[in-house]
Amino acid sequence: MDHSKDMIMVRFGELSTKGKNIRVFIKKLGQNLKIALKDYPSLQFDIKHDHIYIHLNDNKFEDIKGIIARVPGLSSFSLVEAVERDIDQLKNKALEIAKEKQLNTFKIITKRVDKLFPMSSDEINRAVAGKILSETNYKVDVHSPELPINIIIRPDVAYIFSKKFKGLGGYPVGVAGKALMLLSGGIDSPVAAFLMMKRGVKLEMIHFAAPPYTSEQVIVKIEDLLSKLNIYQPRIKVYVVPFTDIQKKIYEVAGTSYAITIMRRMMMRIAQRVAKCHHDLVLATGEAIGQVASQTLQSIVSIESVCQIPVIRPLATVDKVDIIDWAKKLETYDISIRPFEDCCTIFSVKDPTTAPKMERIQEIENKFDFTDLLEQTYRGIKVINVTSEKEEF
Ligand code: ATP
Ligand code: MG
Repeated sequence: MDHSKDMIMVRFGELSTKGKNIRVFIKKLGQNLKIALKDYPSLQFDIKHDHIYIHLNDNKFEDIKGIIARVPGLSSFSLVEAVERDIDQLKNKALEIAKEKQLNTFKIITKRVDKLFPMSSDEINRAVAGKILSETNYKVDVHSPELPINIIIRPDVAYIFSKKFKGLGGYPVGVAGKALMLLSGGIDSPVAAFLMMKRGVKLEMIHFAAPPYTSEQVIVKIEDLLSKLNIYQPRIKVYVVPFTDIQKKIYEVAGTSYAITIMRRMMMRIAQRVAKCHHDLVLATGEAIGQVASQTLQSIVSIESVCQIPVIRPLATVDKVDIIDWAKKLETYDISIRPFEDCCTIFSVKDPTTAPKMERIQEIENKFDFTDLLEQTYRGIKVINVTSEKEEF
């Protein structure tokens, strides 16, 4: 049989519960799949209300299944093989699948799109099942078969499929609004960014740099990290904030134990101004409860109290070992552990408070006029774009 008619059937999972938004979601998923698979221009996409079909033409399933498995918003997908509309061919193909799987129970499920096919769905089911029963030890289980084998009879060709490959789940990036992610060069924030994207949120990034204390290599690191996330979101905008002057001032006035708390409050003040200006609905960070002094519940309260918009922390309850597992899967881990300095490591202190007091914070912040400093810093923000697409945007 000519495999040029083989195709991939994409299922939506959680998406299908989305009521009247479903059409928007499916359209977005189709667009995102096309972008992710742009290096395979001869693929053909057929976007239907219940599935997306990707016609392989001259492409190989093995080459692209890894990409499809990484696009948010699809629950599973199957390679649907084209078979001639001939009952013996269908029987042989079904038998081949059953033997390959070596399971115990099966069921044949036939759907006829072409009602003129000489056999009814039930007759096809029985004929194909008969072949498997007579040549293997399989039993039929109509209620919960280990191996459901699906047959679709179309006017020109028949299709057969069984194996389901797991998709990433979540929602297509872009359907859930836009947020501003605080991205350091560390392990956590790229993972947090991925989890936001997986829920359909389009992200912009903000990075606080402290030149000349942090080298230009930090920007290369950020670009490399984001190029790993481009598979989920092909265009990512980064606001790079020149944070040196503010940091120096903080270390002058704050004393070591409160420096980090004040610094985080300044970061949040700048981030939310950027967010408001660029219509990002919420902020997001890679913080996890208790991971470091600035991430205790008390610290979170004192830092977030400067924010007028919500801060989402996708990793709030996740253990570091599990975050590292994710980072390895996302291929960001090796980039994150490159030994380039982050603005926080340069100015790091030995005795950061884990329970900052509001009065003390107020006292320190009253010692200097940070409004001007913030204004200057804000004006110095530079934008870079990290994209997997050829054209600039
Ligand atoms: P990460 O591995 O993401 O750097 P971390 O464990 O090092 O996190 P912190 O340095 O306390 O933790 O940072 C907590 C969060 O604050 C980060 O996940 C990130 O969202 C934000 N953040 C920290 N430093 C920066 C920075 N230089 N630029 C932008 N965001 C930052
Ligand atoms: Mg960090």
